[in-house]
Formats: sequence, C-alpha cells, structure tokens
Amino acid sequence: MTHPNPRMAAASTEAAPRPSATRRMVVLACAALAALAIPFSPARAQTYPDRPITMVVPFAAGGPTDTVARLIAESMSKTLGQQVVVENVGGAGGTRGAGQVAKAAPDGYTILLHHIGQATSATLYRKLPYNVLTDFVEIGLVTDVPMTVIGKKDLPPTTITELVSYVKENKEKVIYGNAGVGSASHLCGMLLMSALASPMTTVPYQGTGPAMNDLVGGQIDLMCDQSTNTTGQIKAGKVKAYGVTTPTRVKSLPDLPTFGESGVKNFEVAVWHGAYAPKGTSPEVVAKLNNALRVALQDPKVIARFADLGTEPVSQDRASPEAHKAFLEAEVAKWKPIIEQAGIYAD
Ligand code: ASP
Repeated sequence: MTHPNPRMAAASTEAAPRPSATRRMVVLACAALAALAIPFSPARAQTYPDRPITMVVPFAAGGPTDTVARLIAESMSKTLGQQVVVENVGGAGGTRGAGQVAKAAPDGYTILLHHIGQATSATLYRKLPYNVLTDFVEIGLVTDVPMTVIGKKDLPPTTITELVSYVKENKEKVIYGNAGVGSASHLCGMLLMSALASPMTTVPYQGTGPAMNDLVGGQIDLMCDQSTNTTGQIKAGKVKAYGVTTPTRVKSLPDLPTFGESGVKNFEVAVWHGAYAPKGTSPEVVAKLNNALRVALQDPKVIARFADLGTEPVSQDRASPEAHKAFLEAEVAKWKPIIEQAGIYAD
C-alpha cells in the first residue's frame, strides 16, 4: 500500500533490509543512466517553466549586451510567469559565457543572450570548445545596434577629422579599450585601425561596462561601443563622441556624424544580438521562449527604451528561430574569410 505521505513512505523504504553495497551501486548507476535517457517529455514541456530561468550574458554587468538582456528579461519574465535572471559570465571575448551555456542541461532553464561575437568567434578562436552552429538552438534575433566611437572627455581632438590625424600621429600611445578578442568593440577597433592604417594599444576588459568606467575616469583614451552603452554617457557629457559607425545617423544622437560623412571609408559596423538555448532543448520549450521574446520585442516599454538608446527591436520575421539560424550561418560565413585574410586569431 502506498503511504499517504510520500516523505514517510520514503522513510519506510529506508527501513527495509539494506541491499549489498555492489547492488546499491548498480541500482544507482541504472537510475543515473535512466535519468540521462529521459528526454524532455511534452508533459514536462507543458509545465515549463516552473522555476526561474538563467539568462547568461557573456560580458560584464553594466555593458550594452547586459542592458539589452535586462530589458528583454524583465518583459519575458512576465510572459513566462517565472523570473528570467541575468547572470554575467564575462571573459575571453564572450566565449566563456557562451561555452557555459553550450554545456548546460538542455531544459530551457539556462539560455544565452549574445551578439555578433557568436558568429566571429567561430573563426577567431581556433580551439573553441564548442561549435557555434551545432551546439545551440536559436531562439530568435533581438536587435541591431549602431556603434559609436567615443573618447575620454579631455582627449584633444574634437571632430572625426582631428581624431584621424591624432591617431595617426600618436599611434601606440593611444589606448583603446575593448571587451576582448572577438568582442564587438575589438572588431570595431580593428576596422578603425585598418581604415586609418594606424595601430593603437588595446586593453581588453570583461565587457565594455567596466571599460566605460575607465574611459570616464580617463585611464584609457578611446573606445568603440554600442549606442546602448554610450548614449547616456554622451548625453551627460562624460565622454567625447566622434561619430557613428552606421551608414546613416542615429535618431537618438542626431548631431553625431557618420564616419562616411567625414571621409572615413570602409568603416561600418552594427552589432546584432540573439538568444540561444543549448542543443537538445525541446522545440516546445524553444517555442515558449521565442513567444516570450516576441512579446518583449513588441512591449512598448522595451521599444521606448531601445529608441532612447539608439536602436529598435528586429521585425517579428527576424525574431523567429529559423530566421536567426539562417542569419547566424550567413554571418559565420561572412566573417570567416575576413578574419582569415587578416590572420588575426585569439589563440
Ligand atoms: N560591447 C561589448 C563588446 O565589445 C560587449 C558588452 O560588454 O556587452 O562586445
């Protein structure tokens, strides 16, 4: 007879004659194997989520990826009925955090919010311990963000033209902060150096949140970062803004010229963000996450905040897992020859 109180029932089982140590080990091993073999069944998917979800941001808190993640996590929490908790796992240009999610249980409780670095790391890191294209399932694209080139408040140049001459004259004396090899700020810095045909000294951080603190504090000279991180500091006059890296000006910073306008060619970059779950996550769970993401992208609060920060959510079409997968594949293919030609690797 089953005991009415399951805890008491368990207690009475323990009181039964004890099996031999070997038999107990075999039983435990079988139980462990059985647990591994149980797929995430539709029944479990139906009750998903029944506890908080961790959204890993592969960069430090306070940076642009973190800002985007926290905005959509708040809205997704409401739709999913469970907290989506942002966890910052910075380091190695975003590959540490992404690697953690690649190896996480595919149960929908650990997801990743990454950016363009997910595509570039596939080539930049030759010893990446996971496969960008096969170790994740895409949940959907989130937003495309312009980048801005900014300097410490008392950096002498005030215009793009003056900045170009200043970097060419001072070369390695100019300290450029980035978020590690493969980060968007790293790519933007490489493009800038190549467009100006002039090197700079680069200092890597775990994200451009901490790099921004040092720029505001005057410890570094220059940075290129998403408008989602720089708009507030530019508007507050805490940094000097030079230009945007998109072909057209950004609505939230209308006075900021494009580099193209100032004659700097071949220097265009925007940073896209997307959400991922580990490979093996059930389609039902991915559909729930995708639905919550799509709702977030239509949330007036998210749209308004994105607009303040110089960006907007992607269209509902681009927010689908299929569109995200196709886009990621195209981005990996696009960056591979560029990185190989440059011959710059993280390892
Ligand atoms: N903006 C950073 C980058 O350069 C990442 C971050 O801190 O969100 O990739």
